[in-house]
Amino acid sequence: MVRREKLLKEQAKQEAEDMAMIQTLSQSLPSSLDYRKILATIGEKINRVVHAAKFYVLVEDEMNDPSRGLLYGGDKDEESGPEVVDLKDYPLVQECLKKRHPIIQQNVGSPTEEPQENPQVFPYPLSITVPITFRSEAHGAFLLGFDEGNRILTSREIHFCQILAFATAVALSNAKKYDELRSEAKQRQLVAEELAEANRLKTLYLANTSDELRTPITTIMGYGSILLDGACGPLNDEQKRAVGQLTENARGLLRLVDQVLDYSKWERGARRLYKKRQEVGVLLDEIKGELSPLEAKRPYQVQYNISGCVPSLETDWRKLKSILVNLLNNAIKFTDEGEVKLSVVNGSANHEVSFVVSDTGIGIPKEHLSMIFNKFHQVDGSTAKRYQGTGLGLTITKNLVELLSGRIEVESELGKGSTFTLTMPVRN
Ligand code: ADP
Repeated sequence: MVRREKLLKEQAKQEAEDMAMIQTLSQSLPSSLDYRKILATIGEKINRVVHAAKFYVLVEDEMNDPSRGLLYGGDKDEESGPEVVDLKDYPLVQECLKKRHPIIQQNVGSPTEEPQENPQVFPYPLSITVPITFRSEAHGAFLLGFDEGNRILTSREIHFCQILAFATAVALSNAKKYDELRSEAKQRQLVAEELAEANRLKTLYLANTSDELRTPITTIMGYGSILLDGACGPLNDEQKRAVGQLTENARGLLRLVDQVLDYSKWERGARRLYKKRQEVGVLLDEIKGELSPLEAKRPYQVQYNISGCVPSLETDWRKLKSILVNLLNNAIKFTDEGEVKLSVVNGSANHEVSFVVSDTGIGIPKEHLSMIFNKFHQVDGSTAKRYQGTGLGLTITKNLVELLSGRIEVESELGKGSTFTLTMPVRN
């Protein structure tokens, strides 16, 4: 009675130990993402409980040839990796995968040769093949060989093998997905690198082409004004009109080319600031000179106002000028009649100055307001559009505003006009 009690206690203790091991193994296995490591180490884990003479894992080599298998567990694995075998030579594996159930085979006779010499024979008196399956995925099977023909595999041992086979299947499934994701990510990175290179070449091409276009355009403009000044002899009114038209178009073209050039410079990382302290009035005089040819064809003149107490600013004046010329250029372009104004006032917060560019032009539909700063966005993006432009002006403007630590806001009403407010810090 005492002996039986002791036996039962020992059995219970062993089962508790097995359960603990199953739990540790089945938890640690799926967390590993190294496919080969899982397969190379699983045998040692199983043998802690089952004590087989030989253990193999056979998995399908789907990557290369589905009719071949990779056999892990040979002594050579460590250095040379798994042995490549023909799946046809393992009918038991195929059968157990089909049935999704372990197959136990008792061979008459005793082991003769080393199994890895000729593994398809698998000449053990007792063997068990356990399928490694998870959901609809069948990865392969465990093959265990035992030397003792009269050994009996307990249901506990079979159950243990099944649980580990399941945990291995989950781990393999995860590892395969991880491998797939990794190669996808690699692929994406390659594509991203190719795109970045293509983008770099495009920017370079734009910069070079715009630069090349600049010289002939400025030459046309130069000769245009020489002709208009009468340096090559007096022109009659019709000739003056024609040359004026030519110069004006060349100026428009130069603006487009300059915008593309500015944008490509920005894309190539031109972010340097050249700051100095200056009065705002000096800037307005320069802008007036630059925009006067554009006003010539309009029935109005741009109005410039500076409120009395605007302080001097410390900023990059070329960039600030570029921003304001862009805004005023748009205001004149989109305003056929009425008025275009630039007012410089103190900002709502201390140490800020606001440049307000307002017009009474065509206005911007509400649904476009949030997009006009995006590159190439134009309210009228059709090829037959009435107004010339690249759709880059406001993108460049916004980039420059951010570089100068300012901010820009826009309000507009369709058919009534638009107001762009640029607010700059007194010190950049
Ligand atoms: P574009 O070269 O076309 O002028 P911008 O980036 O400067 O490009 O402006 C983008 C678009 O925003 C313009 O095409 C136009 O539809 C709209 N827009 C900008 N400023 C004004 C304005 N003052 N009045 C009306 N629409 C404007």
